[in-house]
Amino acid sequence: MSNPKEIQFKKDAARVSFDEKHRKTIRFNMGKYYAAVAKGAARYQDREAARDKAAAIKRHTLEHLSEYLQQFEKNFTRNGGTVLWARTADDAVAYITQIFQENNVKSVVKSKSMTTEEIELNENLKKIGVESVETDLGEYIVQLAGEKPYHIVTPAMHKSKADVAQLFNKHFGFPLESSAEEMTMLARAKLREKYMAADAGITGANFVIADKGAIAVTENEGNALMSTSFPKIQIAIAGIEKVIPSYKDLALFWPHLAQNGTGQPITAYSSVFSGPKKENESHGPEKMYVILLDNGRTNIYKQDTFRVALSCIRCGACLNACPIYKNIGGYTYNTTYQGPIGTVISPHLRGFESFAHLCTACSLCANCASVCPVRMPLNDLILENRKLAVQGGYFHAMEKPLIDGFTFFTKKASRTDCVGGDMKNLVAKCLGKNVWGSKRAFPKFAKKSFRKSFKNRL
Ligand code: SF4
Repeated sequence: MSNPKEIQFKKDAARVSFDEKHRKTIRFNMGKYYAAVAKGAARYQDREAARDKAAAIKRHTLEHLSEYLQQFEKNFTRNGGTVLWARTADDAVAYITQIFQENNVKSVVKSKSMTTEEIELNENLKKIGVESVETDLGEYIVQLAGEKPYHIVTPAMHKSKADVAQLFNKHFGFPLESSAEEMTMLARAKLREKYMAADAGITGANFVIADKGAIAVTENEGNALMSTSFPKIQIAIAGIEKVIPSYKDLALFWPHLAQNGTGQPITAYSSVFSGPKKENESHGPEKMYVILLDNGRTNIYKQDTFRVALSCIRCGACLNACPIYKNIGGYTYNTTYQGPIGTVISPHLRGFESFAHLCTACSLCANCASVCPVRMPLNDLILENRKLAVQGGYFHAMEKPLIDGFTFFTKKASRTDCVGGDMKNLVAKCLGKNVWGSKRAFPKFAKKSFRKSFKNRL
């Protein structure tokens, strides 16, 4: 049975795939990514060994997840911070609401975090009268446009320079012919006012470090550092899968994430936050909280086959490698996490009834798995999701009989040949729009099959 999300998905996919402007922008921005990644690959002494090591650390951590999370809690608490455990998105929002009400927080600066997107933090803060401003330039652009992030690493990848100029012109009256540098300087000036006035700063966490009781945040603009330096309160929201055993592991994960995320040797700013400022320190927040978010992750953890999906370090490489993502675009998925990793985890995080259809948006080319820095078998997991979707009855009731019928007729040439080309073309025409899409012409069957023509020649 089709669900409304599936119907919308198909409509959007058909529309975006043929949107020439979208294709051009994505090609241009992805092209820059591919060039940087190819150049960066040469920096590894042994890239495959790095992938093996990263995969092994993440798998080991998952096997001891509760121990490492508790170790983190103990050490972070000793550093003066507070750890809050959120089972659901609502729990996380309730914690933040309480902290803000107790501390009379009215304005927030926020650095890029997909976990905060997952709990719809900005929308929830608006409901309690708190202004939340995105400070990552890409996020700032999509927030101004009233949109969600298009990509987990590069949220405004779908926008060209001209699109951003139009947006800045609409909101700030900035000249349309402004250069990228001029627009960046404008955003910088606007954001600086927000940093100075904010009551609280919110970040995500790329890694939660168990033995140090700290979080690691990578970024390129210094905005996370600014968001946490001025306000008196710092909150970090991290999925429970972000934990790594040791501070030393950052020596591998920081460059590995940067290389696979953007092709950089390491991001411009790499910060470790280990609690509120100490008595003898002049900078930093007076209170620091880390919210550890479950929100469906233990549902993935419980399933042996899918546990590995919690190894993800959110580098976005699988999105950039995916031929489907590049054609249908980030928004078509209608999920926080798009592309192959989103296809794997979204049904488990948010329900098969709404997201089972995503597993059909895959050609099983396995390009995603071949680039994943933690060796996630993404294509296998997508196939596993298909199995679950079939078992759960989430596909259209006619699908199986149609496939069985198709298999029966095409298995033997004598069956396929029992009707002529005209009949085959008629059937193709009737099915064509649904199966083949409305924008492509279905190849014509010849009047006589090759087999029959060949026989007649003998
Ligand atoms: S699944 Fe792998 S490639 Fe995809 S975002 Fe996660 S770590 Fe990166």
